[in-house]
Amino acid sequence: MKEHKARKRFGQNFLQDTRIISDIVNAVRPQPDDVVVEIGPGLAAITEPLAKKLQVLHVCEIDRDIIKRLKTLPFADKLVIHEGDVLQFDFRSVAGKKKIVGNLPYNISTPLLFRLSEVADEVADMHFMLQKEVVERMVAVPKTNDYGRLSVMLQYFFEMELLLEVPPESFDPAPKVDSAVVRMIPSPGRIGTAQDFAHFGKLVKAAFHQRRKTIRNNLKDIADDADLAAVGINPQDRAEHIAPELYVVLSNYLADKAV
Ligand code: SAM
Repeated sequence: MKEHKARKRFGQNFLQDTRIISDIVNAVRPQPDDVVVEIGPGLAAITEPLAKKLQVLHVCEIDRDIIKRLKTLPFADKLVIHEGDVLQFDFRSVAGKKKIVGNLPYNISTPLLFRLSEVADEVADMHFMLQKEVVERMVAVPKTNDYGRLSVMLQYFFEMELLLEVPPESFDPAPKVDSAVVRMIPSPGRIGTAQDFAHFGKLVKAAFHQRRKTIRNNLKDIADDADLAAVGINPQDRAEHIAPELYVVLSNYLADKAV
C-alpha cells in the first residue's frame, strides 16, 4: 500500500509501539456487540485490533487519503466510516451507549473534550491518548498547579484516571511532548448538579481567569463577599484552592438568590 506522509495540520503522529497499542485495546476491553467509535483511525494501529474484537466499528476521520486507505483494508466491511471533522460530528447519530476511543489529534483535544461532555449521557466510557500535560490538568486536584478550569469542568461529568504514560518514541513521527492515556467514565452528580449549567460554566471560567488573583477579585461581577462566605468560601482564597463541589454549590446558591 502507498506510504502515507504524516500531515502536521491533522496532528498525525502514528502509534507504532505494539505494546502500547495492546495496552490501549486491553484497557478498552471491547466486547463483540459493543458500540465503539474511534476518533482519528489514521493508519489503523488501534483500529485493526479493535475491529478484530468487534462486529462493527465506527470511525471518524478527516483526512481524505486516509479514508481511501481505510476502505481498502481487509476488515473494511466492519467499519462504518464517518468522513469529516469530528468537531462537527453528531455522536448522537450513533445509537446506544458508546465506548469512544482515540489517539487524538492534540491540536483539537480541548474543544473536543468539551464537546464530548455534552453527550456524556450517551457514553459508556472513553479512552484517549492526549498530551500528558493535558491529562495531568484533567485529573488534577485542588491546591496543585495543574488544577484549573479544565479539571473542574471535566470532573463535573467524568471520573478520570491516567492509565499509561507514553514517550514520544512510541509514535512516528515522534511528537515534541510526552503523551498519556486517560480513561473517562461518566459519573453524573459526583460533584453535584448545577441548576443552570451555563451559569456554572461561566462562574468557573471567571474564577480561574487570573490565577494569581483572589476569588473575590475574579468573581467580582458575579458574587460578593457575602455570597462567597454563605457557601463557605474565603473571599481571599484563590480559585485553585477551591474544590470542584464548591463551585457547583456557589452556582446553585447564586441561581436560587436570583429567583
Ligand atoms: N489512530 C492513529 C494512531 O494511533 O496511529 C492515528 C492518530 S493521529 C494522532 C490523529 C488522527 O486523527 C489522524 O488520523 C488524523 O487524520 C485524524 N484527525 C485529525 N483531525 C481530525 C478531525 N478534526 N476530525 C477527525 N479526525 C481528525
